[in-house]
Amino acid sequence: MNTAPDTNTTSGDGAAGTIRIALAGIGKIARDQHIPHLAANSRFALVAAVTSHTPPEGVPGYRTIAEMMQAVPDVQAISICTPPRGRLALIEEALSHGLDVMIEKPPAATLSEAEDFVRLARDAGRVLFTTWHSREAAGVEPASAWLAERTIRRVQVTWKEDVRVWHPGQAWIWEPGIGVFDPGINALSVITHILPRPLLLQEAALRFPSNRPAPIAADLSFTDTAGIPVEVAFDFDQRGPQTWDIDVETDRGNLKLSMGASKMYVDGVEQDVGDEPEYARLYRRFADLLDRRESDVDLSPFRHVADAFLLGRRTEVDAFEE
Ligand code: NAP
Repeated sequence: MNTAPDTNTTSGDGAAGTIRIALAGIGKIARDQHIPHLAANSRFALVAAVTSHTPPEGVPGYRTIAEMMQAVPDVQAISICTPPRGRLALIEEALSHGLDVMIEKPPAATLSEAEDFVRLARDAGRVLFTTWHSREAAGVEPASAWLAERTIRRVQVTWKEDVRVWHPGQAWIWEPGIGVFDPGINALSVITHILPRPLLLQEAALRFPSNRPAPIAADLSFTDTAGIPVEVAFDFDQRGPQTWDIDVETDRGNLKLSMGASKMYVDGVEQDVGDEPEYARLYRRFADLLDRRESDVDLSPFRHVADAFLLGRRTEVDAFEE
């Protein structure tokens, strides 16, 4: 492996403390979130993009990481915003050029791939941040703290959205292993963070459109390791109001996280959790990890998705037409 000299990401040759970062995959999430939040964060300078199409305005674009490193050798980190299939090769190339790496969720196409790049990053001595943007939603840490002082009785997750609205024309979303689990894994990333004990999948029902190799809806029944029931309903065909809710019944009151955990309610009363955007926190966290030279890797939400495909009973439903 061609490993670059150990650079200190907090003192590149830009302004002191500036991290020279590249983006790979300039699609919806790169444009909606990564580019504006990088621009708003003084710790980062977006200096290059790896793209087959149009780079962000004012940023040079390259077809491959190798071409980018040839032209802009002082890039220190890369944030990868491509779909999960194909990430392993990109991450491997980034690490071989000595880059620290942040990746969008879900981490990979398979658990084995994810475990492989975790090993590669560790061997290369590079920072790897496998992000879960929903864990940065404003209600998540307050919910965790509130639940830590109570006894949980049951949990219900309801994550229902319209794929036509949120992923128009994206072919990759229907690849095997994805479908409704693309949004669903966001909910799994929140519950695996706020609940005190690990989850064990007991049953899963997966509904596949007759013309797609990935499910459009799923019901998952977990218990935690103390036997507390955690029921999960995912739907990718939800017309009308969209729902991203987590309800937790405890011995002393009921907690609701709604709007993807950006809002928190206790017994129906909204709590003040602030409104810092998820991606602002995500990049603050990446800068912090780089300063400390620490990785942040948790594959547990992805493992639950793999379990759902292992245990899931499959039924066929109407063809999906966009
Ligand atoms: P997208 O709009 O389809 O963009 C993905 C980009 O990745 C493409 O524009 C392309 O970049 C590159 N790419 C490389 N290989 C590709 C392939 N085989 N198929 C399609 N694009 C490929 O996807 P996205 O919505 O931004 O999602 C990207 C990742 O972010 C996914 O893992 C998703 O789960 C995650 N995410 C998405 C959202 C959202 O709201 N859309 C929210 C949070 C997280 P170039 O054109 O630059 O070559």
